[in-house]
Amino acid sequence: MEKEFVGICGVCEKNVYCHNGFLEGVVQEDHTLVCFSCHNEDKEDKSL
Ligand SMILES: [Zn+2]
Repeated sequence: MEKEFVGICGVCEKNVYCHNGFLEGVVQEDHTLVCFSCHNEDKEDKSL
């Protein structure tokens, strides 16, 4: 199991890792890293 530290969430300041190539968060257009939980809270479109 590969777990690679990528960076820190710009919102909650938690560590964000990459598991086997799967990033736990999202890199935004301004290159800020945001974890999935913060990214989902920020998103108002719940269609997915
Ligand atoms: Zn976060």
